[in-house]
Formats: sequence, structure tokens, C-alpha cells
Amino acid sequence: MRAVITPERDGKWKLDEVERPKPKENQVLIKIHASGICYTDVHQTKGELPVQYPCILGHEPVGEIVELGSGVRSRKLGERVGVPWVQASCQRCEWCLRDKNAFCRNSFGTSAQMQGGHAEYMVAWAEGTMPIPDQLSYEEAAPIFCAGYTVWSGLRLAEPQPAERVAVIGIGGLGHLALQYAAACGFPTIAITHSADKKKLARELGAEYVVSNGEELAAIGGADVILATSNSAAQTFDCIQGLRPDGRFMVMGFYSEPFQISVVDLLFKRARVIGSIQNGIQYLYEALDIAARGKVKVMTESFAFDDVESAYSRVEKGDVRFRAVLTF
Ligand SMILES: [Zn+2]
Ligand SMILES: [Zn+2]
Repeated sequence: MRAVITPERDGKWKLDEVERPKPKENQVLIKIHASGICYTDVHQTKGELPVQYPCILGHEPVGEIVELGSGVRSRKLGERVGVPWVQASCQRCEWCLRDKNAFCRNSFGTSAQMQGGHAEYMVAWAEGTMPIPDQLSYEEAAPIFCAGYTVWSGLRLAEPQPAERVAVIGIGGLGHLALQYAAACGFPTIAITHSADKKKLARELGAEYVVSNGEELAAIGGADVILATSNSAAQTFDCIQGLRPDGRFMVMGFYSEPFQISVVDLLFKRARVIGSIQNGIQYLYEALDIAARGKVKVMTESFAFDDVESAYSRVEKGDVRFRAVLTF
């Protein structure tokens, strides 16, 4: 099969011919139809997140089950599925037994312990696959397996109350979805973006207000929940000034700088800074369901498999509107 190989740290992605994997017991073989490219792929390629090279990245894979390993009873041939980052875990440790397998130290991650989705085929643990609603195309579904799942998890963890204001920092792969999920729930929603060309679009995606920075956010009265999806530490920290008292600042972007908040903001606003990942498979189900009901529109730029080099360079530069998806 053909696959995108990341050969080494800082290596250039290249298309190569490799052996098609075989599903073992309780695994399925998926023929990939679409595979989203997340900014985490860039972090993995640069060695900023741990990876064993050479590897096949891609943790937003969707496709069709074409082979079942022995013992699989919950999935069938031809079923449309996608796979999130955590596919399976040890089921023995404290975190697995407390239904928080994101913290399991022996879990199987897509594009980490398991081969990723930038390939014609991939093997996954059957229990780690999620059926895709019929209303969503493969291309629309792929970005929900990381970007949509992540932002919906963050919004749910923030526990916004009716009429609270939700702001989203960064209108990119994650942010364009976060904005729509918050607006779909009826929260007064605020987009925070520097890009002039994204301001009009942010309103079309449901933002009641669009501001450029933390100062402007504070000037319009601030937000009770801030979903920080930006990968820029400076932009993220600048927006803390727009957090309202008892506000929740949800950190979902990744950068190497230590997190900075003044004690004045922390103490006197009784602020809560909360890290959020993909917090449980029920949120992936909900994120897909809301999109299937037409409340959230996934905006993608699709790239043919042969164009993987240009896809990667556009993602790295932050030029994609809003999620790059490889299609096969
Ligand atoms: Zn991701
Ligand atoms: Zn475990």
C-alpha cells in the first residue's frame, strides 16, 4: 500500500510503498477514505512530541472496514468508521478502571503506538473505532476525530451555564468548530482573531462579537468561558484579561512556553485555568451527532494523496482554511 512516511525528526514527509498491515485478534483493517492533518502532526514531525521514527502520522482517519480480525463482534465489513487518538487502553490501571483512559500509561494511540491514517490502509482496535453518521461525508467527518472532539470536550468540561458568554481564541482548525459548537448551544459567542479576512466569516459561523485581542474582549464585557485553541502562547496569555469573574480559561493549544497568568487575575477574578484534552468517547459521539444534524459545518481544504508535501507545508505555515484533509 502507499503511505506517507515521516522518516526522521524534522524529516520531509514522503510517499512510499510499504506492506499492508494485517488485523490481529480484536482489530479491524480500515481502507482510508480521508485523513485530516492536525497541527499536532507538525509537532510530531519536529520532535516536539514523542514519536518513534520512521512512522506514519495522522490521527483523524476515517474509512471503511474491509477486514475483521478474529473475535470482532461489534463492527462489520463495509461499516464507515473513524478512529480517535486513544483506541484502547490497559483496562487494569486506576485510570482505566475509573473510565479515564486518556491517562492510562499503556494506551494505544493513533499515530503513536499504532500506525496513523496517512496511508491507504490502517489497522485499529475494533473497540477504538467510532461509527460515522450517514449524514456526514468522509471529508467532513475526519476533522471531528481530533479537532471537533477536542473543542467539544473543552466546552463540556467548562460547564457553561445558560446565557454565559463563550469566547474562542484562534479561528483555525479547532477554533472554527469551537465557535460553531458554542453558537449551536445558544451561548452568546465571541471570536478572537487577528486576521481581518476571518472576521466576516466568524460572524457567519455564529459569532455575535468579533474582537482582535484581550483588551477588546475586556472592553465588550469579557467572557465566562474562553476556549483557547491557538498555538500562540502570546495570543493566548493576552486574552486572560478578558476573562470574567469566576471564568474558566480552557487551554487546548500546544506551545513550549510555560503558562503565564498574573496572580491578580487568578485571585481577584477567582479564575480557573483548566487544561483540556479529548475527555471521553461520549464527547466524540456528541460532536459527530451535532455535526450530523447540520448544526456545525466542517470547513476543509482537501488534498489528493499525491499532494501531501504541499498539504504539509500549508498546515505548517497556518495557511489552511480551516482543516487540511488528505483524500484517497
Ligand atoms: Zn490533533
Ligand atoms: Zn490503563
